[in-house]
Amino acid sequence: MQRLKWIAASGAILLAYNAALGGLAWWQRSDLLGDSAREAVVVAEILAEEVENSIDRADRTLSGVGEVLRALPSTQGLHDPYAHRLLIRRHAISPALRSLFLVGPDGTLRNSSSTPEIAPVDVGDRDYFKVHTKGGADGFFIGPAIKGRIDGNWLIPVSRAVEDRFGRIAMVVGGSLIPEAIERMIASHRVPDGFRVAVTLRDGSPIACLGLPSCAAEPDGSGANLAARFPDAEQATGEFVSYLPGEAGVGAFVRGGQYGIAVAVQADNEQILRPWKSKLHLVLALAVLGSAGLAGGIVALHHQMRHRRLAMAQLEQVNASLESKVAERTKDLAESEERMRGFIMAARDAVVIIDQHGIIREFNPSAEELFGYSAAEVRGRSVNMLMPDDNARKHDGHLEKGTPSGQRAIGRGREMIGLRKNGSEFPIELTVGTHPMGGDRVHVGVIRDITERKANEDTLRRLANTDGLTGVLNRRSFTEEGNRLFTLAERHDRDLAVLMIDADHFKSVNDTHGHDIGDVVLKALAREVASVLRTTDIFGRLGGEEFAALLPETDPAGAEDLAWKVVGAVRGLSVPLPDGSALKFTVSIGIGCRRDGVSSLDAVLKEADKALYVAKQSGRNRAVREMSSQTADVPAPPT
Ligand code: GH3
Ligand code: MG
Ligand code: MG
Repeated sequence: MQRLKWIAASGAILLAYNAALGGLAWWQRSDLLGDSAREAVVVAEILAEEVENSIDRADRTLSGVGEVLRALPSTQGLHDPYAHRLLIRRHAISPALRSLFLVGPDGTLRNSSSTPEIAPVDVGDRDYFKVHTKGGADGFFIGPAIKGRIDGNWLIPVSRAVEDRFGRIAMVVGGSLIPEAIERMIASHRVPDGFRVAVTLRDGSPIACLGLPSCAAEPDGSGANLAARFPDAEQATGEFVSYLPGEAGVGAFVRGGQYGIAVAVQADNEQILRPWKSKLHLVLALAVLGSAGLAGGIVALHHQMRHRRLAMAQLEQVNASLESKVAERTKDLAESEERMRGFIMAARDAVVIIDQHGIIREFNPSAEELFGYSAAEVRGRSVNMLMPDDNARKHDGHLEKGTPSGQRAIGRGREMIGLRKNGSEFPIELTVGTHPMGGDRVHVGVIRDITERKANEDTLRRLANTDGLTGVLNRRSFTEEGNRLFTLAERHDRDLAVLMIDADHFKSVNDTHGHDIGDVVLKALAREVASVLRTTDIFGRLGGEEFAALLPETDPAGAEDLAWKVVGAVRGLSVPLPDGSALKFTVSIGIGCRRDGVSSLDAVLKEADKALYVAKQSGRNRAVREMSSQTADVPAPPT
């Protein structure tokens, strides 16, 4: 169908192109013929006028001669030398006339400009004489070409009758126009090539021709009488006329008003169209080449259009498949989003989904339970409402870092503090990842309440750091904390003292009352010492029934005071026994102080240990501070 349309369209285009070319050629041809027809009219008009003019001149000459001779007393004078001279003079100024002559009323030639002695030839049978004697007497006569009786040349007789005073013909003044002279005149008008011309009298008998074989030379030959061919009009023209013998063609016809001289001009169309025809092969070449070019162009266009159509079809196919893929992906995405939402809603952990600006989008039932808000209450609000202010600020920073790529997980198992609707804070563990959702990327936060885990951790930490029996710091923990405080004191050159506390004769307590009672005593001892110490001091059990206290910002005197306070407090303590009695016991205390030369906690502890040894040696139940190498026994303060 498409192909048929193309073929029809190309046919129409080729047809139009060739028709235009043909039309153009035809138009040029018509133009050429039209021009020639106009030219023919002009030529015919000029020639008719010229010929009529020369006839008119001849007529005037004849009339002039007639007027002069009429004035003579008789026609006898026709032989006069005067008349002969008159003829010669008048002939001299009429070059178109071969001769001037006079004919008597009897039809004999009486005088001629051509010879002084003329033979009396009878011309009574000539047409012109007959016309004049038959009543056209005072008219002008011009007749068909005839052969001259004197010289045998072709001539065109012209004549005028001259009447006497009685109205009879006195004489006829005759003349003969020279056909060759008229033909020369025609030729001098430069009739365009290919034009034939015939000049005829009113009755169609030719008097001069151009380009016609049978005219002046053979005036009564085959084409002699042309009247039958002439149009019945004063003037006519056409592009295909037959006014003259031979091929029909462009022509014009003009009849003179005065003497009825007809001029027919007819062109040889072959000749006129020769230059046009010589260019026809160009038009043909243009038609062939142009048609070939057009056809080629149409074929190329057709190919291109076909390619384009195919490409468009392919594009449409690709588009359709892409669209279906996109639709599939969108569906998959929607399904996966739906699945994800399902998981989230069913999750045991609290899940909070926020957008890139921290605005809550989803809040699952576990989150509702954990934070005490309903999903409706939090949706569309900032996630900062779920954490204390300082946490919220940190979280904003994370969000900013996390958003550009949208890919990075903000954190895995990060511990933070959550804020419930009722204002209470609780530890949470937060894992955040990003996911696509609804054409956007969102942060999915999985939140776990770690209150219980934190408590367990605290317990473990406490157990690891404290002495199981007495609850005070164990040796490792005491040493760690002690070292830290010692470093601080040393950096700021502050006082620091250590008390080494040991129960006196504890072995015997165990031996006497049993190990369990011993434990009870140790617990009571630890509690009592701790109650005397300040909150800034640290206190630990170094092993067995040996304890140590570290006193920051305490000079030696202050330490001694405190040591004695402890000794006094223990002395006043009594531990109830199962049998209802009470057990009393004492402690000895060695004091060590930070100062030049004692630059580690270990060294201070050693000094205190030495002082303790001295205290034991000195009778126990006392506090001793050892100064440099010697030991000062400190007297018991008065109780
Ligand atoms: P001294 O006045 O010289 O210090 O005499 P002492 O008996 O206290 O001497 P020593 O240091 O030799 O004895 C320590 C005793 O403390 C030995 C041990 O039976 C007892 N002991 C150590 N650790 C514990 C404990 O955890 N529980 C009980 N009940 N007794 C302990
Ligand atoms: Mg002891
Ligand atoms: Mg001991």
